[in-house]
Amino acid sequence: MTLPFFRLLLVLLSFSLSSSSLWAIWEIVPYGKEQYVTARSLKDFYNFSRMTRSGNAVVLENKEVKLQIRVGSQECLMNGVKFILSDSVVAHQGRVLISRTDLSKLIDPVMRPNYITSAAPFRTVIIDPGHGGSDSGARNQYGTEAQYNLKVSKMVRDRLKARGYDVQMVRDSDVFYSLSQRVAIANRHRNAVFLSIHFNAGGGRVARGIETFTLSPVGVAHYGRGVKSSDFKVRQGNYQDSANIAFATAVHSSALRRVEVPDRGIKRARFSVLTGIKHPAILLEGGFMSHPFEARLIHSTEYQNNLALGIAEGIEKFRLALLQRRR
Ligand SMILES: [Zn+2]
Repeated sequence: MTLPFFRLLLVLLSFSLSSSSLWAIWEIVPYGKEQYVTARSLKDFYNFSRMTRSGNAVVLENKEVKLQIRVGSQECLMNGVKFILSDSVVAHQGRVLISRTDLSKLIDPVMRPNYITSAAPFRTVIIDPGHGGSDSGARNQYGTEAQYNLKVSKMVRDRLKARGYDVQMVRDSDVFYSLSQRVAIANRHRNAVFLSIHFNAGGGRVARGIETFTLSPVGVAHYGRGVKSSDFKVRQGNYQDSANIAFATAVHSSALRRVEVPDRGIKRARFSVLTGIKHPAILLEGGFMSHPFEARLIHSTEYQNNLALGIAEGIEKFRLALLQRRR
């Protein structure tokens, strides 16, 4: 069962820790080419009341948060929502280790969104319905991805407008824009967030579920690929690393509360629309058009509506989390 994950982005705002004492707690352990922190110091820093290990499974929990990791695995569950870590969890000399990249670029901004400083409070939401015009995206017997992307995007737009947001659509008809045009359109605006909506295909007829991508931090690969030298270049979107993952968490977890499909996790990618955008930015894949059951779901107005509702609720949660930041 998924606990109400959105509370993470709100309840934990009550944490107050003075920054001078922050690093005193951390046990830093070099391992291979990376630096790691111990799970024990994670427990102390975030006031987890319990840490249990059975075999490779490690669970840290308190009243608000349950964090589950597994030695040798890149999967991490926070209150039941799946994240793909940048580095596998390691067991070394009797200690469980999590990479510093995962601490600073994933766990901390999700646990303490009130420390995010890069993103401004926003009222503008830029919605990018993927593909369009000559580029239909994925296709199945019911329709094209470009159509579904646009339909769900309009539903999100309408819900956000009803809540008083200024919504900017990259496209609101069946036209083609290049990826660099989409970036340029988005970067015209100030104090905004950017959301690209897509549907998936591939993985035979068995792959299914929702996944959300945010830009890979510097030195972290695109999901499923090995690290390349270009992964070490700082991209425009990296200035929003902390906001990106918190935004992804809010929207992904809210969407999963509204539609009953598997959680494929929050992942890292180097898509052009994520590297080039100056705002907090995510790309959500709302299901698999190539999966027989999900293809029918995606075609139904009810599913589209619920997905749009979840997305809009996630955007609102992220906005509220930013408003409660420490100054
Ligand atoms: Zn697509």
